[in-house]
Amino acid sequence: MKYCPKCKSPDIVPALAGFLNSYKCKKCGYIGNLVIEVESDHK
Ligand SMILES: [Zn+2]
Repeated sequence: MKYCPKCKSPDIVPALAGFLNSYKCKKCGYIGNLVIEVESDHK
């Protein structure tokens, strides 16, 4: 699970604009390779 570092929204999608490992937040419009990643099977 990935979260936006700006608004903490999980609504993150890969940014297919030629940027490797970049993501885009659909909520606030953030684009970058820095995202918060959390393992969903955390115990
Ligand atoms: Zn965001």
